[in-house]
Amino acid sequence: MKILVLNCGSSSVKYKLFRFPHPRLIEKGLIEKIGEKDSSVRTHHEAIERVFSDIKEAGFIKSFKEIEIIGHRVVHGGEKFKDPVVINRGVIKEIRKNIKLAPLHNPANLEGIIACGKILPSARQVAVFDTAFHQTIPPFAYIYALPLELYKKYKIRRYGFHGTSHHYVAHEAAKLLGKPLRKLNLITIHLGNGCSISAIKKGKCIDTSMGFTPLEGLVMGTRCGNIDTAIVFYLHRQLGMSIESIDILLNKKSGLLGVSGLSNDFRKVKSAADKGNKEARLALDVFVYALKKYIGSYIMVLGKVDAVIFTAGIGENSRWVVREATKGIKSMLKDSPKVLVIPTNEELMIAALAYKVVKTKGTP
Ligand code: ADP
Repeated sequence: MKILVLNCGSSSVKYKLFRFPHPRLIEKGLIEKIGEKDSSVRTHHEAIERVFSDIKEAGFIKSFKEIEIIGHRVVHGGEKFKDPVVINRGVIKEIRKNIKLAPLHNPANLEGIIACGKILPSARQVAVFDTAFHQTIPPFAYIYALPLELYKKYKIRRYGFHGTSHHYVAHEAAKLLGKPLRKLNLITIHLGNGCSISAIKKGKCIDTSMGFTPLEGLVMGTRCGNIDTAIVFYLHRQLGMSIESIDILLNKKSGLLGVSGLSNDFRKVKSAADKGNKEARLALDVFVYALKKYIGSYIMVLGKVDAVIFTAGIGENSRWVVREATKGIKSMLKDSPKVLVIPTNEELMIAALAYKVVKTKGTP
């Protein structure tokens, strides 16, 4: 059977088509600039029609009906979704409810789901949530030390993101180590444009660095990660910045870009640092130091660590980051952990989870 995986962003749709049950990638592609002025694709509906026609024209399918399952990456599942689900009206309602928690992502994810429902009603649609893998985090790790009312009434808590990637590399690590995941303690580190780290105990996630939003935690391409929250008041009161401009500053102008003043792209910052650029060097040092602190604290949280796993653009390619961030780790622990680099494949994980949930649960 064929499974289509869709990642619908605010102005783009990424897709991969797989053959199952013995997973094989058949085709992948990207429709960009949805809704932009000079673009021929005005809506997500049109973008998805384009995906289907591209796949058909390329000869990968003869009829749309060959696609039996469509797996969607959905960013925010709130507290409701701990696992992937076959999409029905109730699921759509819940995803809509979570728009206030992920205003940039969930609306586009929903548009993709609704469009597929209209274009290919015969396919089962499955939602795989970025937050789901982190739903095993215990309350003492997901509750912020704010008045508890804010959690009870408004669900302000740590959710964590990149869950599918952390889950996938944990799974692959278990295969490499030749042990069941449920018997492993792992630290998984996703270093792409966004960066996050998770502590996994006996196969279950027990903490992660991203929080209520993806802004918390590690230093990233353009996000600042952890800072003293009072800086926000200072920027507002003393520098007269609006909340909107502070939001842009922390999310889009900070991190590697903010400190180096050069770029959010790790390769550019690294090559400038290697040529002697001091700000670029400082940006890398700040990046790696934040990472080392998190690895150290997760070692404490886990006690025993079987492996530390690096993934995504930076994690898979920069030996320098892997080496710097794990320096001294072997002497810290009695049974020193393996340091592994494992390429992530969120789309394959989404396809595999979608296949499994349809096979076990069937029609909603
Ligand atoms: P996204 O989160 O958008 O999927 P990626 O996983 O592609 O991002 O990671 C993007 C980051 O990976 C960028 O900072 C880029 O510079 C970095 N990167 C890509 N290739 C390399 C490489 N060969 N060496 C070091 N960093 C790399």
